[in-house]
Amino acid sequence: MTNNLSDKITAPVRLKIDGEALVSNWRALSNASGKASTGAAVKADGYGLGAREVVKRLSDAGCQDFFVAHWAEAVAIADLVPAEQISVLNGVTKDDLSVALSLGARPVLNNTAQIMRWKAAGGGRCHVMLDSGINRLGLGPEQISTELFDGLDIDILMSHLASADEDVPQNAAQLALFRLMQANIVHQRLSLANSAGIALGSDHHFDLTRPGLSLYGGVPRAELKNTIKQVVQIEAQILQVREVQAGQHLGYNATFKCLKNTQIATIAIGYADGYLRAFSNIGCCRYKEIELPVIGRVSMDLVTIDVSDCANISEGAWVEIDYNLPQAAAVSGISQYELLTGLGRRFDRVFVD
Ligand SMILES: *Cc1c(COP(=O)(O)O)cnc(C)c1O
Repeated sequence: MTNNLSDKITAPVRLKIDGEALVSNWRALSNASGKASTGAAVKADGYGLGAREVVKRLSDAGCQDFFVAHWAEAVAIADLVPAEQISVLNGVTKDDLSVALSLGARPVLNNTAQIMRWKAAGGGRCHVMLDSGINRLGLGPEQISTELFDGLDIDILMSHLASADEDVPQNAAQLALFRLMQANIVHQRLSLANSAGIALGSDHHFDLTRPGLSLYGGVPRAELKNTIKQVVQIEAQILQVREVQAGQHLGYNATFKCLKNTQIATIAIGYADGYLRAFSNIGCCRYKEIELPVIGRVSMDLVTIDVSDCANISEGAWVEIDYNLPQAAAVSGISQYELLTGLGRRFDRVFVD
């Protein structure tokens, strides 16, 4: 916004994003990827953190492959890295063909129609997605033919794992099928592993790995627990502190009853910010290490916390909300992916390097 007033407003909610932890996670995943090079999934605005800031930092650290889902997401980072380092996972539809051709980012062609379209348009170097069992996007084994790939200049030939965060036979099955499917297709590089796939071991690494979640602090497999650092911290400002008398109830539908007189702070965050109702009565905040439990139901813009243990806290203080991804997912039953990508537009996103 160009409006002067909006520049003067500080949001009462902010994401503190640890740029060093982000880079450290990319390096850790790069180490874990062995000889393979390591890209970065930055779709969904860098999983909610802000794709531009993420791309700048990872590019400086040496990352050369960035994956987005939509063409608009490619356009949004196209001034930061060479276009050929950007891959668009949704491939190319009729509607985005002209943008694709002029931008020079590479589509991940997902089916016969996309391949025909790209060839007919003289689209140049591209990537191809093979479906080894997720049954979402990509060419299945029965769709592969020499003619189809004739005249196509393929850089990355890739597939995507469906259940790499679990120890299930599907992982080995997808690996075997990917090996088989790629054998007769001319390509530059092979790529299979997402974050969890990296932890499945060197068989899964090929030439390039494509982590997303773990760059941002997500831990999809126990093997990554000690190497992945928390990146995002949520802070919200206190709007009001008040005493609520014993016997009174809090918030919508009165889901919490004060058994004693309780000091309550109301903070400026809610489910519209992605702090979901699943945290009602189970989430926790902190102020200088003191735990401040979320009590009552999370509303759209407000959350109430018990500050009885924090004598002098008052309006304007910033509290930190517990949002360590694996822990917050365990507490709320919401996936780490959703916890991240759901973080809304009202936060000031502050990178701390
Ligand atoms: C999102 C995505 C990734 C990254 O997955 P994470 O589980 O977040 O590491 C990699 N490859 C493809 C095709 C994706 O869609």
